[in-house]
Amino acid sequence: MKRITYRTLALLFCGVMIVSLIAARPLMPEASAPSTHTLLAESQAAPIARAPAVVQPHPAPRPTRAYARGLADDVPRAPKTPAKRPVPRPAPAHIPGKGPRMRGTLVTQTARLDLYVGKNTFSADVIAARAAKFERVLIAAEDYFGTTLKRRVSVGFYRTPPKRGVRGMAYTDSGQVEVYYRSDEDIGRATTIVMHELGHHLEAQRYGEENQRLADTILHEGLATWIASIRWLDQCGASSWRERAQQLKAAGVPLRLRTAERSGADNAYELWASFVDYLTRQYGWKAFDALYASGRGRAPGSANYQRVLGKSLDALTDDWQAWVEQ
Ligand SMILES: [Zn+2]
Repeated sequence: MKRITYRTLALLFCGVMIVSLIAARPLMPEASAPSTHTLLAESQAAPIARAPAVVQPHPAPRPTRAYARGLADDVPRAPKTPAKRPVPRPAPAHIPGKGPRMRGTLVTQTARLDLYVGKNTFSADVIAARAAKFERVLIAAEDYFGTTLKRRVSVGFYRTPPKRGVRGMAYTDSGQVEVYYRSDEDIGRATTIVMHELGHHLEAQRYGEENQRLADTILHEGLATWIASIRWLDQCGASSWRERAQQLKAAGVPLRLRTAERSGADNAYELWASFVDYLTRQYGWKAFDALYASGRGRAPGSANYQRVLGKSLDALTDDWQAWVEQ
């Protein structure tokens, strides 16, 4: 506990209050009981998301059958030279050495992660069987965000959170993630939390430890949730963050940002992810990165929206609401 307190004071972590990833959670308290919602099929989470920031070649459109048989002349001519095939992303380089030592037992190492288990959480066998998946969700997060992990991170699974309702903590200064689950809970949902927490490590990688420490909570949690989009949205049954915000609104959750946590932590994280999605689409990544780095502390609204984007947070909130409601 002392260690946790120290870290809390150091403000070098982020907690995730994942309580229930159900499709709509109007005005639920933060620390309500876990829902029985189950993760969607794992196969849906496996494909790597296309990173908005990364230009990927697209295969040429396949000629129609009629064209192929020479029966049609009203279809586009096939290119004489076939388009280049998409180049698969090379496997991430193994980061040598060991991640920081954590409580419990070291189960296994992947290319960039050391996996630990404590008592009365997932078994070592369950985590070992899941190891390749954790590495894949890291790759997906990196591809989505366009930033690559540069140092090993240790991920520990434990039963008891430091505070009720907390599901994960990212200690970006020391290269650690803690995830809190009971042994009978869904490993798939725990995997989404791992992805979110690794998202915070990628934020620290991209913006620097100091900027991450001072980041506006709206952007800090919104971005880590956005980085985990491929799994998080699946769990919500939404195909985009805009749709997710529409779902929440339809369920009675107000589209607010500064005080979003009054509607529960999960709802807040998702509304903030939707706002991050809106900002990156509307203003681009360069502006978003500058905005993130302008934060002056975890208080919602601490970033300098007016200077970086030319509008106040309240004006941007209005714009975002209009975008959601279009
Ligand atoms: Zn977080």
